[in-house]
Amino acid sequence: MRALVLLAIYLIPAAASAEKRASAATDQPEILLTFDDGPALDKTPKVLDVLDQHHIKAVFFVNGWHFQGNRPTDEKERALLREELKRGHAVGNHTVHHYFLCGKVYSKRAAQEIEENAALIEQAIGIRPELFRTPYGAHCKALSEVLSGLGIKHTGWDIDPQDWRVKNAAKIEAYVEAQLKTLHGRAIVLFHDIQGETVKALPHILDWIDKENEARVASARPPIKIINYAYLIPEHKLVPPLLDALGRVLIEYIHRAATGPARLWGSLAWLSGQV
Ligand SMILES: [Zn+2]
Repeated sequence: MRALVLLAIYLIPAAASAEKRASAATDQPEILLTFDDGPALDKTPKVLDVLDQHHIKAVFFVNGWHFQGNRPTDEKERALLREELKRGHAVGNHTVHHYFLCGKVYSKRAAQEIEENAALIEQAIGIRPELFRTPYGAHCKALSEVLSGLGIKHTGWDIDPQDWRVKNAAKIEAYVEAQLKTLHGRAIVLFHDIQGETVKALPHILDWIDKENEARVASARPPIKIINYAYLIPEHKLVPPLLDALGRVLIEYIHRAATGPARLWGSLAWLSGQV
């Protein structure tokens, strides 16, 4: 019986991940929106409002240098991170200072930059960030070793309108829409919520997706789906609470049956102290 319960407990997450793989393999265009380098008090709230209007959950990869001090603005920025979380978005780690972690100088500080930012985020929102993106997309052997030592997986991107460089809402919009028109499968879009032109472009891009999807549905083509970050979160093999409690009752019941009179009432009383 115990083996059966344990089998059920471990099969459920396995089935869920098989489902995830199946959806990733479909041809339907799916995008995840990510916003880097914030928070910015005058821009991030506007991004949050637009995302809410379209019921989108995104990832904000933040830099701790914005909010690590004791100035009133630091506290406001920490509150903004809590607002991101409250509205259902993920707050990701983008290092404290946004250094190039594969360069000669800062590669030695990679672990410190990542760990300190994780601690700053945890102090601000109460949970440790699970997602990480390296500044500038830096990638090298030394950094890979640091990341694997810390047990962190890097989140990259697929569609990059280079909003920080072009600084032009119309060009950002045109680039993203052109990419989405021909997209098959899943892609991560990179934006920066510290860029005013991105804040301007975002509502237009999302309205365009709505119109594009109407046309796609009308012509029996798969619509562009905006997905959330759940598929990026590492699996913790969490046992659903009810199954966990049931498993523990059965194990306790069997234990009692083997060691003395098996009384269901006793097991239930024991359960009430566990759940
Ligand atoms: Zn960045």
